[in-house]
Amino acid sequence: NIAIITHINPDGDAVGSALALFNFFKQSNHKVNVIIPNGIPDFLSWLPSADKIIFGSKHFDLCKEIISNVDFIFCVDFNSKDRMSKLSDVFSSSKAFKILIDHHPLPGDFTDFIYSDINVSSTAELIFNFIVNSNAEDKLNKEIAECLYVGIMTDTGSFSYSSNNPETYRITAELLKFNINPQQIHYLVYDTFSENRLRLLGYCLSDALKVIPEYKKAYIALTKEDLKRFNYQTGDTEDFVNYPISINNIIYSALFMELGNEIKISFRSKGDNPVNDFAAKYFNGGGHKNAAGGSYKASLADTVKRFEELLDELKSL
Ligand code: 5GP
Ligand code: MN
Repeated sequence: NIAIITHINPDGDAVGSALALFNFFKQSNHKVNVIIPNGIPDFLSWLPSADKIIFGSKHFDLCKEIISNVDFIFCVDFNSKDRMSKLSDVFSSSKAFKILIDHHPLPGDFTDFIYSDINVSSTAELIFNFIVNSNAEDKLNKEIAECLYVGIMTDTGSFSYSSNNPETYRITAELLKFNINPQQIHYLVYDTFSENRLRLLGYCLSDALKVIPEYKKAYIALTKEDLKRFNYQTGDTEDFVNYPISINNIIYSALFMELGNEIKISFRSKGDNPVNDFAAKYFNGGGHKNAAGGSYKASLADTVKRFEELLDELKSL
C-alpha cells in the first residue's frame, strides 16, 4: 500500500515523476495513490493517470486516511517537509516507511531513506534510474515514458538549461524507444494556453514588468485583481518568470503573485548567479541555483518593497 506525494503547486517534473511511479507500481498490483496538496495545471491534465490524483485541497480527509494507513510514502521532487503544505503534519504522524526521491540541493531530513542527486536535470531521471535499478526495466512502458519525458522536458526548458549531462539524453533516448511523440507532448504542454493566459502574459510583459538595469534585475508583480481580471487558473503563470531574464544584461528576475493570504514568489537567474540562498534567507524558500521560489506574508507592495531594499544582497558574481 503506497502513497506518492508531490509539493504544492507542482510542476511538470513533480507531476510527471509521481505519475510515472504510479504507473510503475500499478503494474505490480500494489495499492497506490498519488496525492497532491492543491491542484495541477491544465497543461498536465492529459498525463496518463492524472485523473486518479487525489488533491488535499478537495479531499483532505481522504488524503489523511490514505497517508495514515499506507506502508510506504514516496516524496518526489521536493526537499523540505513544509512543501507539502497542510499535509505535512499528517505526513509526520504516519508510521509509513518514507522515501524521498529528489534533485534539489540540501535534501531535508524528513524521510527514512533519501535518493537525491543534485546533478541530474530532474526527478524524472531519478525515477527512471529507480525503476531500472530495481531490475524492473521490463515494466517501463509508454505511459511511464510520457510522464518521465514531461519531467525532463519541463525541468530543462525543453533541453535548454540543466541539460549538460549526457545521461539526460541517454535516458531520453531510452524513453523515445516507447514510441512517445515528443512533438505532440511539447504541443500539449506549451501550446495549449487559454486566451486569458496569453493575455495575462501580455499584461505582464507590457504593463507589469519593471526593469532595474543598474542592478541587472527585472520583476513582475501581480495583484489579486490582476489575476482575477484574467481569470487566473493554477499554472497559468508557469514560465512567466523566465521572460525578464531574456533581456540582454538582465541576470535576475522575480515574479510576485498575491495568492490567498500570502505572496508567492519565483526567482530565476542566468549563469553562475545563485538565487536559492537568497530565496531561503529572505523569502522562506529555496530551490535550485538558477530557479528558486518562496513566499512572504505581507502585502504585495510591502513584499516588493522588501525585495527592492535587498537588491544589493543579490549580486552577480
Ligand atoms: P517556481 O518558481 O517554478 O514555483 O519554483 C522553482 C523552484 O523553486 C522549484 O522547483 C522549487 O525548487 C523552488 N521553490 C519554489 N517555491 C518554493 C518554496 O516556497 N519553498 C522552497 N523551499 N522552494 C521553493
Ligand atoms: Mn524538478
